Amino acid sequence: MTGTDAQPNGSTTPVASPPAWTDRYRTAIMGSAALPQAMLERGEGAYVWDTDGKKYLDFLAGIAVNSLGHAHPVLVEAISRQAAALIHVSNYFATEPQLELAERLRTITGAGDRGRVYFGNSGAEAIEAALKLSRLNKGRRTVVSLNNSFHGRTMGALSLTGKTALREPFEPLVPGVVHIDTTFQALEASINDTVAALIIEPIKGEAGVVDLPEGFLKRARELTTEHGVLLILDEIQTGVGRTGSWFAFQRDGIVPDALAVAKGIAGGVPIGALITFGDTSDLFEAGQHGSTFGGNPLATAAANAVLGEIERADLINNAIRRGEQLRAAILGINSPLVVEIRGAGLLLGIGLAQPVAAQVSRAALELGLIINAPNDSSIRIAPPLIIGDAEIAQFTTTFARALEATA
Ligand SMILES: *Cc1c(COP(=O)(O)O)cnc(C)c1O
Repeated sequence: MTGTDAQPNGSTTPVASPPAWTDRYRTAIMGSAALPQAMLERGEGAYVWDTDGKKYLDFLAGIAVNSLGHAHPVLVEAISRQAAALIHVSNYFATEPQLELAERLRTITGAGDRGRVYFGNSGAEAIEAALKLSRLNKGRRTVVSLNNSFHGRTMGALSLTGKTALREPFEPLVPGVVHIDTTFQALEASINDTVAALIIEPIKGEAGVVDLPEGFLKRARELTTEHGVLLILDEIQTGVGRTGSWFAFQRDGIVPDALAVAKGIAGGVPIGALITFGDTSDLFEAGQHGSTFGGNPLATAAANAVLGEIERADLINNAIRRGEQLRAAILGINSPLVVEIRGAGLLLGIGLAQPVAAQVSRAALELGLIINAPNDSSIRIAPPLIIGDAEIAQFTTTFARALEATA
């Protein structure tokens, strides 16, 4: 990407014809994020098109958000119908989509009759609710979190996020957070009767799709139960079918005290939720937390449509099956750059032998494939749950070419 040269007469002339939107973006959008790689106009299924008409295979799905892909007719219809009825009413009023979604979440999380749901509008808001909830656990003030974890960017969520570089410029943050390494030793040394909560991502997405050590969640559950510590799971990225079960924790045979969900649940309409289990459901009292937009009928109707379609089209089994196919296909490329494949279902991290993930991702984009480099040596892929043979074949040939172009 090239910039513009200031001309003596004060006008600016493109040097290598950068798209006009980049200048508009640079001048109008807050500089808190890097310049986007393309400007997108529309999508359909697993494909998106930019404003020049170039077509891309989207294997990132808005970072594990577009569960049904783009412009899925079931989601489009549900949103359109709800928009024509009620978009927002505030928490002074109940709506049918909100109650339906809360009841669905109680069912699919296994929280059942003792489950309760709090609705916000983003992952960070689900985490903020969890952090406030932890303050109500027997007056305890310490929260244990993992190094290299990601829990969001708001001050509370950032306090929990295990990346010093993200936290430092904004200190002082919320006090009482202890970050530990993801080892059994550190876990055992940190969980005691003074700790309010332990928060864990079952697979660390932003860290490059990094799995927990075998048995880690189970041990965390044992220790937290023994010491009266809330076990909070952040399934904002791993939840809603993506990893091959409704939630990743369900494959470990444990039950958390609270579960944060967002990203994929409403297929792109902003929403976040915190689901509590058992006695934890009694901690919040009326007036202790809330959000103006939280649980509004538009977002909850969208989520109901997404969850309904995941069930109807058996997309959780598709995530398992397509995930296995993708792993085999990536290994089949036989590139010396690929050293490991992490993750589960359709949330996969590809570990590279060299710190060239950004180059691979850029080469892929050039070739019409959207993937992402969460760090120097990891590629993350998180395609829509609807993908089939054709998308996998196209991904494989394109990804192979991107690796080749980089090597
Ligand atoms: C994306 C993410 C968040 C933050 O969600 P936002 O909607 O961006 O606030 C928190 N935790 C995890 C694991 C995430 O992937």
